[in-house]
Amino acid sequence: MSGNRTFSMIKPDAVSEGNTGAILRMIEEAGFKIVAMKKTALTGETAGKFYEVHKERPFYKDLCAYMSSGPIVALILEKDNAVADFRKLIGATNPADAEEGTIRKLFAKSIEANAVHGSDADDTAAQEGSFFFAKTEQF
Ligand code: GDP
Repeated sequence: MSGNRTFSMIKPDAVSEGNTGAILRMIEEAGFKIVAMKKTALTGETAGKFYEVHKERPFYKDLCAYMSSGPIVALILEKDNAVADFRKLIGATNPADAEEGTIRKLFAKSIEANAVHGSDADDTAAQEGSFFFAKTEQF
């Protein structure tokens, strides 16, 4: 059964380009409710922990440097079938492969600086949400 919540980040490229508002609008217009939201920043160390699953990938070091290069916006989002529907809304990892109208097609710069994160499963959504938010910050 699909869960109702997912976790997202608006990544440093999209925040620094001033696309936070446009992306939040697309998220809300797609029917997601914002359960928790925080503008913050990762350090090299916290980015390394967040992306630990990619530790062995060749792009891990670059990814951690990029993700700690500027502020991000962390979000917990709610909707029926949240994880799968949000992955559809953001589009493929590489913006060159992303469908028209998706957030990454509209705002991503590259396969790395791809504007937004979206959890890939219900259990990772819960873990990633608790990486940034206490239970008392979730509405
Ligand atoms: P996602 O689930 O679509 O975010 O993709 P992955 O979980 O496979 O990768 C996590 C993040 O690592 C992506 O969103 C990109 O920011 C980055 N990434 C993925 N593949 C590559 C790659 O081949 N090169 C680089 N530089 N970054 C990548």
